[in-house]
Amino acid sequence: MPMWSPWHGCHKCSPGCLNCYVYFLDKQHQKDSNIVTKSRTNFNLPLKKTRTKEYKIPSGSVVATCFTSDFFIEEAAPWRDEAWQIIKARPDVTFLICTKRIARFMECIPPDWGAGYDNVIIAVTCENNKMASLRAPILLNIPAKKKYIFVSPILEYVDLKPYLKTGQIALVSVGGESYSNARVCDFNWVKQIYFDTLKYNVPFDFHQTGSNFLMNNKYYKIKHCDEQEQAQKGLAYLQKLSSHSK
Ligand code: SF4
Repeated sequence: MPMWSPWHGCHKCSPGCLNCYVYFLDKQHQKDSNIVTKSRTNFNLPLKKTRTKEYKIPSGSVVATCFTSDFFIEEAAPWRDEAWQIIKARPDVTFLICTKRIARFMECIPPDWGAGYDNVIIAVTCENNKMASLRAPILLNIPAKKKYIFVSPILEYVDLKPYLKTGQIALVSVGGESYSNARVCDFNWVKQIYFDTLKYNVPFDFHQTGSNFLMNNKYYKIKHCDEQEQAQKGLAYLQKLSSHSK
């Protein structure tokens, strides 16, 4: 999935932020992740073209938007309107915005947002039940054409059933935490959430296992480069399990 980071840097604001990968990666370059800066080179990446006049981000792409910050962070106020205009200028591309600051959503949308831009997906992170109870009800109440829930990094079984049954959630995606201090991702939690989504016919993805994965009472250390592949195997296992239980 292509990434677009119009600004970089963020403040820890939630239990899921404890081992934030932005902080982990910035630390290796002696960069202070707490300072939010506008990208000097890639602010307008979705509008950039190659020498052959093709967009660098191809038509039909889903773009992970602002994944090294938060699209709704306070410091981005002077830049956000222009970012919305860039999003609007690429109706052929879908922008996936995942936030922990959904409470700021209504004050950050552009004047012509209406029921939402067709090419924007709004996702909230619900890493535990407490954060789900704060963020998911707001997600249900905001205008957006497509809404996702990310249980990432998963910290416990998160009961999403009250939100899934509304029929408003288009995808639940679960992922474990990465890198050295990562908290454990228990496959039983993933499994429970998977079966909850099945009950309400909500599409489900298990996008990464995290670095410390617990399955069938056995702990596994997973290399970062293998996390996605292992998660896909876990997902295939769940799909097989559910097809047998039909
Ligand atoms: S909101 Fe996201 S990017 Fe910001 S500190 Fe938390 S985990 Fe990191």
